[in-house]
Amino acid sequence: MSQSESRPFVISDPAEFQQRMRGLAQRGARIGFVPTMGYLHAGHQALMQAARAECDIVAVSIFVNPKQFGPNEDLARYPRDLPGDLGKCRERGVDVVFTPTPEAMYPAQFETKVAVARTSLGLCAGTRPTHFEGVTTVVLKLFMLAQAQRAYFGEKDFQQLAVIRAMVRDLALPISIVGIPTLREPDGLALSSRNVYLSAPERQAALVLKRSLDAMQAAAAAGERDTAQVIAAGARVIAAEPLARLDYLEAVDATTLVSSPQLGGPSQGIGAVFIGKTRLIDNLRIL
Ligand code: AMP
Repeated sequence: MSQSESRPFVISDPAEFQQRMRGLAQRGARIGFVPTMGYLHAGHQALMQAARAECDIVAVSIFVNPKQFGPNEDLARYPRDLPGDLGKCRERGVDVVFTPTPEAMYPAQFETKVAVARTSLGLCAGTRPTHFEGVTTVVLKLFMLAQAQRAYFGEKDFQQLAVIRAMVRDLALPISIVGIPTLREPDGLALSSRNVYLSAPERQAALVLKRSLDAMQAAAAAGERDTAQVIAAGARVIAAEPLARLDYLEAVDATTLVSSPQLGGPSQGIGAVFIGKTRLIDNLRIL
C-alpha cells in the first residue's frame, strides 16, 4: 500500500474490508490487526506501534460493540471522536481503519453467539455477565474480516486477553495473539477511554485501584501467601477512599486466572472499582 498522506484508508463496509484484506494477504502481506472501540489514546497507540514494527500492513478497527454492553451500561454515552482517532492512527502509520456501523456488523438476521465457557466466568463477569460473550462474538467476526496473522490486545483488559487466547486455542484460529503491557499516566492511572468521564476529584480518587494492586504486590513481596490476606491488603486501600466503591479484587494464577487459597506460581492482582458512575479496571503482576 502506498505511503501517501491519504493513509489511513478508511472502510466501513464489512464485505469491502474483507475483500481488501484478502487481496493484501494473497499478495503475501503480513497483516497486524488492532481491534478497538475508539476514543484512542497512547495505550491503543502502543498496540499499533507493536503491529507496525512486526507487520507489513496494520489494520485498526473502531467499533463500539453493542453486544458487549449490559442494559444499564454506558453504550449510549461511550466517548467517540473519529477525526481525532484517525489522526492517532496516522501518527502510528496505520494503513487501514475499519469503522463499521452496528447494523452492518449485526444485520437483522444475525443469530450467532461465540462463548468461551470457563475463562469468561468470575472477575469482570460478576457485574458484566454477558460481556465476554459479546467480546468473543465480535472479535471472531473481526478476525474473519481482517485476515490478519497477528492481533494485538492490551494486558490492561487482562481477563479479555485470556478469553481471546482461549478462543484462539480452542478453535485453532490461524492467528497469533500478542499481549501488550498496560500504559499508565505518570501517577499510575491506567490509560482508559473511560477516564474522560471522571471529574477532577474522581480522577484523583481513581488512583486507589493501582495503589490497592501495589499494596497486594507489597504484601506478596513481604512473604504473604494467604490469598485472602493479600486481597485484604488491597481492599483496605480502596475502603479508605470515600469516592470509590469496590466491585471486585482478586489474586489469581496469571495464566489460568484461577484463584487458590495460597499464592503459588506467577500471580496477578486484578480488580474493578466504581468511581461515581464510572467503572474502572486494572491489574498487576504481584508474584
Ligand atoms: P478498547 O478500545 O478499550 O476496547 O481497547 C482496545 C484495546 O486497547 C484492548 O486490547 C485494550 O486492552 C487495549 N488498551 C486499552 N487501554 C490500554 C492501556 N492503558 N495500555 C495498553 N493497552 C490498552
